[in-house]
Amino acid sequence: DKRIHIVGGGMAGSEAAWQAVNLGIPVTIHEMRPQVETFAHRTGNLAEMVCSNSFRSDDDEQNAVGLLHWEMRQAGGLIMEMADAHQLPAGGALAVDRDAFSQGVTDRLRAHPLVTVEAGEIDRLPDADDGQWIIATGPLTSGALASAIRAETGQDSLAFFDAIAPIVYADSIDMDIAWLQSRYDKGDTEEERTAYINCPMTKAEHEAFIDALLAADKAEFHEGETAGYFDGCLPIEVMAERGRETLRHGPMKPIGLTNAHKPDEKAYAVVQLRRDNALGTLYNIVGFQTKMKYGAQTEVFRMIPGLQNARFARLGGIHRNTFLNSPTLLDDQMRLRSRPNLRFAGQITGVEGYVESAAMGLLAGRLATQELLGDPLPPVPADTAMGALLTHITGGAEAKTFQPMNVNFGLFRPIDAKGGRRGRRDRYKAYTDRAKTAWREWLGLPEPTVSDIAADA
Ligand code: FAD
Repeated sequence: DKRIHIVGGGMAGSEAAWQAVNLGIPVTIHEMRPQVETFAHRTGNLAEMVCSNSFRSDDDEQNAVGLLHWEMRQAGGLIMEMADAHQLPAGGALAVDRDAFSQGVTDRLRAHPLVTVEAGEIDRLPDADDGQWIIATGPLTSGALASAIRAETGQDSLAFFDAIAPIVYADSIDMDIAWLQSRYDKGDTEEERTAYINCPMTKAEHEAFIDALLAADKAEFHEGETAGYFDGCLPIEVMAERGRETLRHGPMKPIGLTNAHKPDEKAYAVVQLRRDNALGTLYNIVGFQTKMKYGAQTEVFRMIPGLQNARFARLGGIHRNTFLNSPTLLDDQMRLRSRPNLRFAGQITGVEGYVESAAMGLLAGRLATQELLGDPLPPVPADTAMGALLTHITGGAEAKTFQPMNVNFGLFRPIDAKGGRRGRRDRYKAYTDRAKTAWREWLGLPEPTVSDIAADA
């Protein structure tokens, strides 16, 4: 039987189903709601938006998530079609009427002759001879299925929480203040001995920083979120509350480091950043997971000398989130290496957000369908937003510190600056132009004609 089973009818599962049926392959969507509920979902509808009603920026020339919108529209994505149909005015952002949106997705899928929706929780992994499956059960994957996945992948390969330290664009760090060095110059190679970026603080800067940390606005934990969690992964503001010197003896300890710009000055505290991707374009602030609100984080972290102009690829956070250590577990076709008839899609693969999750559903749906049809797809081009995300989760990210990620230009292969440095707008436009050509080619769409371009403008 040529059929794809999809577990979870959320953002990713709904899009995966749509892609498959439009290529002629029947699907069964297994969705546990409304019989089994999560703490965040409210309805039994498919593709429910659990929190904000925004798909973020719709700018497909200057913004990576806007580019992802564009790529999904080109691929006939249902999530984007319904988002466009139920759009609300929101400036440059794509905000939607959440109820009409998820009702729209639900109606379209249920009305399709190749779609079957089966209600009920799936509590085990299918066998190798059970055909093609896509697991898209999201950040709130049910406990029974999570246990089954853990049994297959190993204890440490499935996380239940995000404790995210903020991630900074490397080119926004002031290297006239910060310097490269690993603590005690540890490492066998020059690369290892300079694996960290260090930001020094004087006593006065440290005191002001701790004051700001203690005073900052913090988000509350959801019910049940903290259970069994806090060992070894405290938010920095909680550490600071335990004592003003706690951080200086923890992640901000100044020992084993010499300021390359002022070798005679002993820093009172040092904030370290660790490389976050193979390209070296992103760095995370070590040990700085936090529940500070986003506005407060930007303000407080820019007090760190060297980060005064920092731009953030993502801010810190701590919340319930089930996700795989995808870089070690999934191949570039999103298949579980140990069980190639299983694909994973959506937030459980380590992407973050409605759009990114739907995007990974779109890919998984297409990849599974073409494999079933005996006509597997070539690798997703790395220069597209889709490909940048996929490359990140299946190999580009450091497996040891793997944390879920929004799409951002830091994940893209740098553009050669022909004829000198390019401005940021110019660079982003070059990324999105390059991506659009590669994506249309991968989809097998013709080059846009002059009149298409005029109509677009
Ligand atoms: P989901 O959309 O969650 O879909 C997974 C589906 O699988 C659900 O319908 C669930 O009921 C079902 N399921 C789970 N286990 C089983 C099982 N064993 N058997 C059958 N079905 C199962 N993203 C944003 O972009 N903006 C936000 O503001 C935002 N806020 C969030 C707030 C919270 C509290 C949470 C938890 C997440 C938030 N996210 C937000 C992330 C957002 O949930 C995801 O990005 C997106 O919904 C993930 O899509 P998905 O398809 O992977 O998972």
